[in-house]
Amino acid sequence: MRLVVVGNGMAGSRLVSEVRTRDPHMKITIFGAETCQPYNRVLLSNVLAGSSRPDQVRLLDSSWYAAHNVEAAFGSAVAHIDRETRHVVTDDGRREPYDLLVLATGSDAIVPPIPGVERAIPFRTLDDCERIMRDADQARRAVVIGGGLLGIEAARGLAGRGLPVTLLHLAGHLMERQLDVEAGEVLGETLAGLGVEIRTGVSTSSVDDDGVRLDDGELIEADLVVLACGVRPITGLAAEAGLEVRRGVVVDDELRTDDPSIFAIGECAEHDGTVYGLVAPAWEQASVAADVITGGKSLYHGSRLVTRLKARSVELAAMGETHLTEEHAEVVRFSHRARGTYRKLVIRDGRLVGAILLGESDAVGTLTQLFDRGGQVPGDRAGLLFPGLSSTPVADSPTLMPDAAKVCQCNNVTKGQIRACWEAGARDVAGVAAATRATTGCGTCRDAVEGIVSWLCEQEGISV
Ligand SMILES: Cc1cc2nc3c(=O)[nH]c(=O)nc-3n(C[C@H](O)[C@H](O)[C@H](O)COP(=O)(O)OP(=O)(O)OC[C@H]3O[C@@H](n4cnc5c(N)ncnc54)[C@H](O)[C@@H]3O)c2cc1C
Repeated sequence: MRLVVVGNGMAGSRLVSEVRTRDPHMKITIFGAETCQPYNRVLLSNVLAGSSRPDQVRLLDSSWYAAHNVEAAFGSAVAHIDRETRHVVTDDGRREPYDLLVLATGSDAIVPPIPGVERAIPFRTLDDCERIMRDADQARRAVVIGGGLLGIEAARGLAGRGLPVTLLHLAGHLMERQLDVEAGEVLGETLAGLGVEIRTGVSTSSVDDDGVRLDDGELIEADLVVLACGVRPITGLAAEAGLEVRRGVVVDDELRTDDPSIFAIGECAEHDGTVYGLVAPAWEQASVAADVITGGKSLYHGSRLVTRLKARSVELAAMGETHLTEEHAEVVRFSHRARGTYRKLVIRDGRLVGAILLGESDAVGTLTQLFDRGGQVPGDRAGLLFPGLSSTPVADSPTLMPDAAKVCQCNNVTKGQIRACWEAGARDVAGVAAATRATTGCGTCRDAVEGIVSWLCEQEGISV
């Protein structure tokens, strides 16, 4: 069996390692348009903020491929799929035969069609990130265009480097897809306190030598302009090969396209009408596809998403249907703008269908569990919003959390799995990470994993 993978990003590299774990003999070739070894794209925000170095975000190094008998062709983009003869053709003319093909081509950053946009740097790849950091060293002022998750992380990262930053956003409030108006405003106030000037409801008309020109003619001065205007799935290869493409490459529950020998996973895939933009679904899809490719029966049924911001001094988690109002659901809300705190629960038919937690993260674990499992919400709503007030113990501490609670969202790791690997001898976070991959995605679960490991050690009287 010959497997060819197109795309060496987070989904493609995970698929290859999962297939190799299950089948030591399959012939595997992976093509990657980027010249470097695969890296954790999620952590580019940390690199930009200076809390990780580029060499610390590698996923697999070159020796891994040699040791696992995988041919890796990096800096080699696939330009064409010949479905008749089952070959892919690279841009430098190499033809590689396949029995099974996986498309994991991810997304491109959207570059708005405005004059001078070539002066701006998108924020998608390690190369982009290194360019931004180089320019930031010389820059006096920066503008970030786009107030979604990425734009906010970029703006906060640049402000943390001591650069005055203006964040421009077209919509009326930040992260409008995940947050309601008030949460977006509170987030804006928090960022303003950290040195990021926020301008919402503005449209950019050009990028000039001396800054960004708005539609009304105002110039926002900057000598560094970063684009975070969203992403678009890379589907050209699949479309040209005649595969069904809507927003992404359409796949079924086995992650197969309408050609049964071709799979698509990650941000380029569209499953049940949804194209996901986070790493947890990409890795879940990689695992299901690897199982199917090696003869297993796994199915993918979609993912429930929890978005967490990775910006120093800004705690934010958002999940589910956060925009529902009292008309359609029970909404429990607390806002204390002076402290940058906003909490909202959206409950329908007794179940948590959405939540926003801004400012503090003490309830994130409990709410994520309730949201993930679709369990009945306890009657004590205040105790849910503020675990410290709870009249009944809330399962946010390692002690009370049930074994089924998902601790690492990116890698789908439960407390029970962490306990099992602790029982098998892992006594610290590094050991748990090596055994389960928990903490190796966005890294926001690190404290929770550490808490569980310490608690297990204490229970057994092992000093940590
Ligand atoms: C700065 C930043 C921060 C993020 N933060 C988070 C976060 O906190 N949480 C979260 O869940 N997600 C986050 N994401 C999103 C996450 O990184 C993506 O969801 C994830 O990388 C998707 O994986 P993928 O493999 O589908 O795509 P990618 O990782 O983009 O990989 C696709 C690869 O395919 C290659 N490719 C494309 N076409 C071809 C071709 N024709 N031939 C060969 N190779 C090709 C591309 O060059 C690329 O290397 C963040 C993204 C960025 C940029």
